[in-house]
Formats: sequence, structure tokens, C-alpha cells
Amino acid sequence: MSASVIDFIATEARFGARNYEPIGVVLSRGEGVWVWDTEGNRYLDCLSAYSAVSQGHCHPKILAAMVEQAHRLTLTSRAFHNDQLALFYEEIAALTGSHKVLPMNSGAEAVESAIKSVRKWGYEVKGVPDGQAEIIVCANNFHGRTLGVVGFSTDPETRGHFGPFAPGFKVIPFGDAAALAEAINPNTVAFLIEPIQGEAGVVIPPAGYFTEVRELCTANNVMLVLDEIQTGLGRTGKLLAEEHEGIEADVTLLGKALSGGFYPVSAVLSNNDVLGTLRPGQHGSTFGGNPLACAVARAAMRVLVEEGMIENAARQGARFLEGLKDIRANTIRDVRGRGLMLAVELHPEAGRARRYCEALQAKGILAKDTHEHTIRIAPPLVITGDQVDWALERFAAILTQDFS
Ligand SMILES: *Cc1c(COP(=O)(O)O)cnc(C)c1O
Repeated sequence: MSASVIDFIATEARFGARNYEPIGVVLSRGEGVWVWDTEGNRYLDCLSAYSAVSQGHCHPKILAAMVEQAHRLTLTSRAFHNDQLALFYEEIAALTGSHKVLPMNSGAEAVESAIKSVRKWGYEVKGVPDGQAEIIVCANNFHGRTLGVVGFSTDPETRGHFGPFAPGFKVIPFGDAAALAEAINPNTVAFLIEPIQGEAGVVIPPAGYFTEVRELCTANNVMLVLDEIQTGLGRTGKLLAEEHEGIEADVTLLGKALSGGFYPVSAVLSNNDVLGTLRPGQHGSTFGGNPLACAVARAAMRVLVEEGMIENAARQGARFLEGLKDIRANTIRDVRGRGLMLAVELHPEAGRARRYCEALQAKGILAKDTHEHTIRIAPPLVITGDQVDWALERFAAILTQDFS
């Protein structure tokens, strides 16, 4: 590494809170599936900023929409109307089949907003006694980093020494419908769950699980809240991951790729009266629904559909998964994925996944380890078949080495 690269890394370490441990590469440019470091080395981005850059880095049409809007109007606050919000509502509702939309900024804010909304719905519509609402969540969940959200995490790293936490959450195992049936009581207002647990290592629930979940929620008047912040907007090869399960959530959370990585934009979508319980003054955000965010999100949704990225995710995801499964290496314990949300789980004896990610970096691929032994693979949805093959060659070369 050159002196300037070491300087960037050292300066970050000196001044920044050490809440991340990045791989030793300093990026300065991106285009499509590629990113370049400060020394001009090119990498295939197999993380896509945790799926926020699904449309590819610096997509020209999203960029144009952002620049055009930035010249005209960026922020009005919701004290006034702006000429982008209505169009954003119309387009996201049409795309997802939702009736009501609550625009926010980060994913965690969308989760917090959903929790507030379903509790309010519980008290005002379902008739739960005030202060008694319960929300069921899953073990190994990841829903963000705010205090409310980490309070119901089961990861000691995520929660440790951040308490005390808000009550009202019950944790059950992921993929276990019987546990859900048992956990529901008259005060249950919602079941909050990821269709595929991304941060936990791309954990796909058993077939039929979500059909049972949907039935249990409907039978008990419990709102099914699907956190599609990572799985949504084409990542799994469908617009929403719920489509693989043949169900519809009551509340859907989107974020990340909703802006194609240009700007934080998230949304709570609802197909019933959950969001209808919010009245003026009861919830808000200075930046939520601002015209710049809306213009960027509109372009990000448009290119996703117009450029066939969702179909491409299905096609290239299948190719990538098959290619990974074909790699014969005794370092590999499991390969799994849906669409372009993939993971290679290593045998514990094979050494930490981080070492493999560092070796991949040297070969021109940026991927991220999760939970010690899993390499997560989530390239932009614009990846081509040739690029998948190029990546597979490098994965094969690295996975057949032993870094234990
Ligand atoms: C990333 C993520 C979040 C949190 O989004 P932020 O924008 O980082 O707050 C919530 N849920 C899931 C499933 C995520 O992947």
C-alpha cells in the first residue's frame, strides 16, 4: 500500500469512532459493478454497500435525476408540500401494490416507524390495553442500530452495554411456525421478520414457513411486518422477497436500494389501516419525504424495472449459485442464496472468513465476511454473465486455498 493509502486509514483510525473494521482498501470511484481504489486498482463489488447499490455504482440516470433536483429544490420539510412527494407516493404504491406510504431516511428509522405505527394500530384498532402491546421478533434478527431496535437483537455484540431497553418484544426462533403460534397472545400487535436473514448469514427459512406465518397472523389479527430493506427491490430475483413465498405482508419496509445508494431513503408501506392511525404531529422527520430523496428514489425504482434488473438478478443469481456449488473445496461447508443474495459458509476449521475476503481483495473482488465463517456475496443487480464467471474463477482459486 502506498503512503497515502496508509495515511487515509491511519487518519480514520485516529479521529473516527472505531465502530467498523473495514478491509484495507480505500475507494475513490465507482461505475456499475466496479469500484476503484486510490491507486487505480479495480474491484468487482460483491457487497454493493449491503445491497444499497443494487442499481450499480453512480447509475447515470439516478445521478442525472439527483443533480437536476439538487439544482431546483432539496428540502422543504413537511411543513409545506413539494412537487416530488406525490409522484414518489404514486410510483412506489403502483410498483409494490401498497395503499399508504410513510417516507423516512434510514432503514432503522423505517423499522422504528413501523413499530410505532403497529403499536398505535394495536391500541386504537385492535383494542389492546394501553401500554400492553407486544411485538414478536426472531432470534438472530437484524433490523438496524437504533436503541429501540438493538433492544430486541439477540446478538450480544449489538446489544451489549447499550441498555436499558424498551419492553414489549418477544423473541422466537426463525423459521419455526409452531413457536409463533405459541408466542401470539391477545396483546400481540405484530410479527416483525426478515424474509431471508441477511446479516445472520443469508438464512433462508424452510419452504412453507411463510404460508403458515401468514395464516397465523391473519387468524390472530396480528400485523405481519416484513423487513425487506435488504431483500427488497429485486435483490432476490423478485421485486419483493415475499413473492417467493406467495404471501403479502401487512407492512413492508424498504430502504437501501430505494435510492440506488445515492442518498438515504426508506419507506414504510402498508396495505391496510396501520399507517392511517398516524395523525398530524404524531410522527415525522425533517428530511423524510424531501424532494431530493423523492426524485432520487423515483429514478432508482424506474431504472430497476426499465433496465430489467430484477430479472437479471434471478438469472445471474442462479448462475452464481450454481457456479459456487460446483467449486470442489473442503473449506466449504454450505453454499446458499436466492437471486443475488448469496453466501458461502466455511468450515470452522478453514479459518476466519475475513482472511478469505482479504485474499479475494488481492484478486480484485470485494466481499464481506459475516459471523466469522460466512462470506456474503451480493453484487449489483446489473452484473453480466461474463462478470459472474470472472468472479467465480477467483472464488474458486481462493476457496481451494486453506487459510486456517
Ligand atoms: C440494513 C438493514 C436495516 C437498517 O438499515 P439502515 O439504513 O442501516 O438503518 C434494517 N433491516 C435490514 C434487514 C437491513 O438489512
